[in-house]
Formats: sequence, C-alpha cells, structure tokens
Amino acid sequence: MDEYDWLIVGAGYSGSVLAERIASQLDQKVLLVDKRDHIAGNAYDYRDDAGVLIHKYGPHIFHTNSKKVWEYLSEFTDWRYYFHEVLAIIEGKKVPIPFNFNSIQEVFPEALANKFENLLLDKFEFGKKIPILKLLNEEDKDLKLLADYIYKFVFKGYTSKQWGLNPDELDKSVTGRIPVYLSRDNRYFQDAYQAIPLNGYTAMFEQILDHPNITLVLNEDGIEYSKKISYHKMIYTGPIDEFFDNKFGPLPYRSLEFKYRTFEKFPFQERAQINYPNNFDFTRITEFAYLTGEFHGKSTIAIEYPKVYIPGVNDPYYPIPNKENEEKFKLYLNEAKKVKDKVIFLGRLADYKYYNMDQVVARALMTFETEILTEK
Ligand code: FAD
Ligand code: UDP
Repeated sequence: MDEYDWLIVGAGYSGSVLAERIASQLDQKVLLVDKRDHIAGNAYDYRDDAGVLIHKYGPHIFHTNSKKVWEYLSEFTDWRYYFHEVLAIIEGKKVPIPFNFNSIQEVFPEALANKFENLLLDKFEFGKKIPILKLLNEEDKDLKLLADYIYKFVFKGYTSKQWGLNPDELDKSVTGRIPVYLSRDNRYFQDAYQAIPLNGYTAMFEQILDHPNITLVLNEDGIEYSKKISYHKMIYTGPIDEFFDNKFGPLPYRSLEFKYRTFEKFPFQERAQINYPNNFDFTRITEFAYLTGEFHGKSTIAIEYPKVYIPGVNDPYYPIPNKENEEKFKLYLNEAKKVKDKVIFLGRLADYKYYNMDQVVARALMTFETEILTEK
C-alpha cells in the first residue's frame, strides 16, 4: 500500500495551496486527489475548439487587498494587470455597475440626477459604498425613491434569477458585495491588486503543484481513494454535507449552466461583462478576450443561466448564505470538530462560505500556519 503523510481531497485553491505549503515547507509527501479530470477547481481555464482561452466554470477575475496573498501567488505566475468593468441593461440603457454617480447620470434627467447626487453627498461621504438593503431604509423620501429604483432595476430581478430568492431572503453580505458606490469610478472592484494570471489560471496551478513531494491523481473520488492508500491525515475541500453522508439533510447550493458562443472577431460587446437584471433567463454575458488580452482572432462569450443544484446532475457552485442554511451548516461543523485530529476541512464548499479566490488562498495559508505548522 502506498504511504503518504497527507491525503488532500480537491485540487482547487484550497487543496493546491496546502499541498504546495506542506510539500515545500515541511518536506512531507502529499497525495492530491480530484474527481474531475483537471486541476485548478472552479478556476480552471483551457483553450476551446476555436483556440480561445476560456474559463470552464464561469469567468474568474482575481482581486485582493492582501499583499500576502498577492505575493504568494506571484511566486507561481506573472500577471496581466486588469480592471474589470461591468454594464447592466436598465430600461434599455447600458449603465455602470456597481451603480454609481455615472449610472445616476445615465438613467435620470440631468436635474434629477444632480439632485440625487447632492442628497447622497449631504448624507454620506464621497467614495462611500452603501449596500442596497441599507439604502432602502433611508427615511428621506427622495433617497428612498432612488433606493427603490436601484433595488427594482439592478438587484431584484438579477437576484431572483441568480438565487431563486429575493435579496432580503439572503444574508445581506450577498447583495452587499456590489454596493451603491458614491463615486465616478466605474471599476467593478477597487482592490489594490487586480489581475489575471498571464498564462491563465491552470498554468499557475501547474506551477503551484510542480513539486516532487506532490502526487496528483485525477478522475477519482477522494473518499473512495482514501481506502486504497495509507496516510497520516486528510484535508477535505469538497462539500461538507457529502463528507458526512448528508446526515442532517443536504445543504442547498446554487448551480449554473454556461452556454458558450464563439464569434469570428472581437468584440461581441462593449465591456467584459454585461448584466441582464430584467431581461432574459440568463444573468450575465462575459467576453473572455477582455480578461486575457487576446484581442485578435476569434472571441468567445459565456452566457450564465442560474440553476437549482441537483447532485449528480450539475455542480455545487454557490453556497446559499442565509440563517437557515447557516444553522444546518453548524451541525456539520460540529461533526467536523469531532474528527479534527484526522481531517482538516476548508474551502468554499467545506466551509460553506461565499469566498472569492483570494479569501480561499488566505484561508489556506492561515490554516497552514496555525493548524499544520504548529503541530509539526
Ligand atoms: P473549488 O475550486 O470548488 O475546488 C474544490 C475541488 O474539490 C473541485 O475541483 C472538486 O472537483 C473537488 N472535489 C470535491 N469533492 C471531491 C471528492 N469527493 N473527491 C475528489 N475531489 C473532490 N472568485 C474570485 O475571486 N473572482 C471571480 O471572478 C470569481 N468568479 C467566480 C465565478 C463562478 C461562476 C464561481 C462558481 C466562482 C467564482 N469565484 C470567483 C470563486 C472561486 O471559484 C472560489 O473562491 C475558489 O475556486 C474556491 O476554491 P476551493 O479550492 O475552495 O474550491
Ligand atoms: N447583483 C445584482 N445585480 C447585479 C450584480 C449583482 O443583483 O447587477 C447581486 C446578486 O444577488 C449577485 C450578488 O449581487 O448574486 C453578488 O454579485 P457578484 O457579481 O459578486 O456575483 P458572482 O460573481 O459571485 O456570481
């Protein structure tokens, strides 16, 4: 029987960063298993039949304020500096998202737009970001009018398509990700570091995993595989409910279906991403060439259709953050605590948290420092 110090289930950011840390810093042997036929988890990219670099599980834009995360990943990739911009179709106009002062000027007549800007600046500082659910509570009747408009045209339709729920049925952090922004900055994110790996995400993961102490096994279920090998400790980055055979009932996730179309030339649309809050059954269309900088030749877009997650049919892309699901997750977390000497749980699916890529990397680096290095 093959012997390893660690069995890591899942070759996304969580599993791959920990494999790299353990292999390079502790000189221990890691077996990394993923049930998919590739590394990089949901950040996986590849060239489609037209030769365009696309993201298989939806467009991924890296952004972080963490110098530590940025410097860590920079050991494995060069970057293409990139600021993401998004427009949403509102009453037939294409307006910047996050909804900001430029958006206000686009959708309202000038005098009314100026009035709204002044009202906002009387109440809040320029540059403030205000979650829509907070703005809706404003007592001033004109501000309330503005909030109702933004809620109706930006958030309500998009959110009910994306989640099958209204914004107030989700944790407020969900719509709070894209707050109303009292600024004329049209960028989707304001983080200090925003970029795309120069040769793509998969190429970056290949570098992360390029270590003689790491053995990679693809197309295998990690739990099943654990029976065939000998190992000291497991790191599990898949869905936590699956690990415990859904003993408290399944945790709900949201899935997506991606439809891809390739065109003979760039561009198909005027920004990288166009959101459709109130039209069609899809939420957004992204054109990959903006992300990769490959502007010549063919251009591929991804159209995102939200779906209910059905195990065995599609993939669990999003945990659904609300009180009820958090309660159920806590039951699983208690089970995880009981086996903590044998298994470490982390990642978007095992923590049941709506993490971005940088948060997952930060979580993995912290886990290494506080739970693995200290035990050595
Ligand atoms: P995952 O990437 O999900 O990796 C888990 C891996 O475990 C998977 O490869 C899975 O196959 C494997 N696995 C699960 N169970 C088993 C098992 N039993 N046996 C073997 N293998 C198993 N973040 C950003 O920062 N910017 C973005 O623009 C962005 N866009 C996104 C768009 C979409 C549509 C989605 C879904 C996510 C996006 N994210 C984005 C979030 C990002 O994808 C995640 O934060 C990150 O990929 C999570 O990494 P992870 O390792 O925790 O999980
Ligand atoms: N959202 C919205 N309208 C938009 C953009 C975002 O209602 O035009 C809400 C929606 O609920 C979405 C959430 O904000 O799910 C987070 O948006 P983000 O772009 O961060 O979603 P992700 O890229 O993670 O799918």
